[in-house]
Order: sequence, then C-alpha cells, then structure tokens
Amino acid sequence: MSVVLKEHQQMLHQMVVDFSRKEIKPLDMVIDKQKGYPKTLWDKIVETGFLGLIVPKEFGGADFDPVAEAQTIFDVASNSASVAFTLEGHYKTVDQLKKYGKASLKEKYLPEANKRIFGFGSTEPQGGSNVMGHTASAVKEGDYWILNGNKTMITNGGLAEVYLVLLKTAENELTCFLVDKDMPGFKYGKQEDFFGMRGTPVGEIFLENVKVTDEYMLGKIGEGVMIGDSAHYDARINMGAIAAGICQHALDIVLDYATERKAIDKPIIDLFSIQNKITEIAIAKENTQLLYEEAAKLKSQGKPYDKVSTMAKSYGSRAAFTSCDHALQVLGGYGYSNEYPVEHLLRDARALQIAEGSLEKMVIEIAKSVQMERV
Ligand SMILES: Cc1cc2nc3c(=O)[nH]c(=O)nc-3n(C[C@H](O)[C@H](O)[C@H](O)COP(=O)(O)OP(=O)(O)OC[C@H]3O[C@@H](n4cnc5c(N)ncnc54)[C@H](O)[C@@H]3O)c2cc1C
Repeated sequence: MSVVLKEHQQMLHQMVVDFSRKEIKPLDMVIDKQKGYPKTLWDKIVETGFLGLIVPKEFGGADFDPVAEAQTIFDVASNSASVAFTLEGHYKTVDQLKKYGKASLKEKYLPEANKRIFGFGSTEPQGGSNVMGHTASAVKEGDYWILNGNKTMITNGGLAEVYLVLLKTAENELTCFLVDKDMPGFKYGKQEDFFGMRGTPVGEIFLENVKVTDEYMLGKIGEGVMIGDSAHYDARINMGAIAAGICQHALDIVLDYATERKAIDKPIIDLFSIQNKITEIAIAKENTQLLYEEAAKLKSQGKPYDKVSTMAKSYGSRAAFTSCDHALQVLGGYGYSNEYPVEHLLRDARALQIAEGSLEKMVIEIAKSVQMERV
C-alpha cells in the first residue's frame, strides 16, 4: 500500500475487511454459479452503508474521499470481484451526479443513492467505443425533454433503479440526463449472459417518450462526452483497484494451495517454478496498486488524474488476467476446475479489458497524454 490512511479511513478499511471476509468471501463461488447475489447478502451490503460511501454528509452519506473509496473497492474485490464491480458502477454514477447535477436534482437523488443502486448508460447495441455514433435521443418540446432509445451493457442494469444516460441532442452533440425506473416510458431490457463477473447484473434499458424537465440534465447541453469521459476516469481508478483485488485473491488461493499440495514429499511452494509464479502475481498486484492509489491521491488533491487512472486500468486489467493464468497453472487440473475459484477469477479479470473503455481505446488515450506532456 502506497497511501497512509487517516484514522477514520483506517477504521473504514478494517470494517470493510471484516465484512468482506465474513459476509462476502464464503459466497464468492455461489455468486458466480448462481449468477447473482443472494438477497440476504445484498440487503446487508445496503444496510452496512456501502452505497452511501461517497455521498456527502448533508445528503445522509459517509462522504469518504477517493483514496478510501479505492481502498474499499480493493478490499471487497479481494473477496469477490463481482460485488466490487457492482459498487464501482454505482460510485462512478453517483460521482457524476455530485459533480454535474443541479442543486435541486442532488437534493432529490443523492439521498436516494444511499439505498438505491445507480448505473451509467452510454453503450448502445451498435457500439460502445465511438460515442458519436449513438442514436438514443433527447428532443426539447416546450418545457420538457422527450427521451427515446436504448442503452445496453450497463453495469448494474436491471438491478439499478436510477441511471445517467448520454443522449443525442443534435448532430454530433451528446447531453447527459438522469432517468428513474419509475418514470413513465422507462423499461428494462435484456440481461447479458457474460462469462465472467457473473454476480454483477449487466443489462439494457429502454426509454420510450420519457418526459423530463431541464432539472434532469447534468451539466449543460452538449457536455455529455465530457461527463462520459469523467465517469470513465473515475471508474478506472476503481477498475485498477478491482484488478489489484483479483491479484490479491489469486495470491491468497495460490499461497494456501501451494503450501498444502505436495510434489511427492515436499510442498510445491518450495519449487522454483511455483515461486516464480507467486512472485509474478505479487509484483502485478503491487504495481497495479501503486497506479490506482496514485490516481486516487491525485483526485483527492484536486489534481488531474485521467492519465494515471487510465494507466491503472490498462496495466491492471492485463496484469490481473496474466496473474489468474499463473494461479491456474499453480493449481494444475484443479485450477481448470470449477471446484476452485481460480477459473472464475480468470473469467472475471477478462472483463476489465473491455468495460470502462477497451484496451485499444486506452492505448490511444495514454499515447495522446504522453505526447501532449512533451510539448
Ligand atoms: C462487464 C461489462 C460492463 C460494462 N458496463 C458498462 C456500463 O456500465 N455502461 C456502459 O455504457 N457500457 C458498459 N459496458 C460496455 C463497454 O463500455 C463496451 O463494451 C466497450 O465500450 C466497447 O464497446 P463495444 O462492445 O460496442 O465494442 P466496439 O466499440 O464495437 O469495439 C469493437 C472492437 O473494436 C475496437 N475499436 C472500436 N472503435 C475503436 C477506435 N475508435 N479506436 C480503436 N479501437 C476501436 C475496440 O477496442 C474493440 O476491440 C460494459 C461492458 C462489459 C463487458
């Protein structure tokens, strides 16, 4: 860990570690097999206050900063990547409401964020990477905006009750709006059957003549791309934390297994080939942690963090996948079996190379940032 936690952050960290080990860890494989959270677990997560972690105190939340937020995501992800992924989808959306919502909208919806889960909808069936190709629209009629279209592959889609969506308000112009599942014309669509992160619901929503006032617009007309980018940069800190959490989870499994498992008469942990893999996983975890913690620190200090958060996700997503592959190899045949959690960690890790911006898009962004830094 490269950050020094303050006393209240340390207390949160200990609470999250205890909760995750007691309540989440025993259900990790159940969550993957059942493709969802047992209701009792979800109720405990909400009751414990995880949803309100970054909600300001004046709206009933715990008001923790990005460093504590990322630490929480790491602590949860070390026990279940899916639960951490659900929280990540919620936090990035709440963060944009905090940054860009009008005062009256924040008053209405930030208290809701302590109990109801939020999601961010940008991707459409015809593509996610190129947002200017989006077709879902908002058209002004008198005092109202009429919202139409669908958004797919939303983290928490189906479970979330409140969404921020990017809608076309003119040619080459996107604007961000808040929609609530209780608005007339809002409908849930299909749920994805993804091969990893199977606890996290990822689904579609339809908007059919949903009517909202200007109050429900975040930022100004045409600021949708900027808000979408901001959501990505915030999310990528936590994606780095999930990647490092997956590495930690893999490391814990490998250390236990390699200590018990014998090559005839000695534990396989004494073999150089196994130590080599353990070392690779440990370094991957540490490097990823340094990157997302640095991004979280910069964000807490009000400094630019987009480049480092993108690096945390770009590096971390590949490091987590490779680490899970090493872990699988240490467990031999059992690593390939669904009797052990490593195979689902490998599947979970793969999602991180796509969600919150594909690896290919991040290559473009990082290369551009470092080019701009030179001039
Ligand atoms: C687990 C999971 C959770 C997700 N959660 C959300 C969410 O909460 N909200 C949301 O809106 N979306 C979400 N998504 C969707 C995700 O953002 C998109 O899948 C991603 O942006 C890629 O879009 P696409 O799948 O349409 O692929 P496409 O955009 O069709 O891309 C296909 C391939 O072409 C490459 N490519 C496309 N355009 C370019 C370009 N301009 N430059 C370089 N390479 C390019 C891509 O990198 C990719 O390899 C989620 C996806 C997953 C898997």
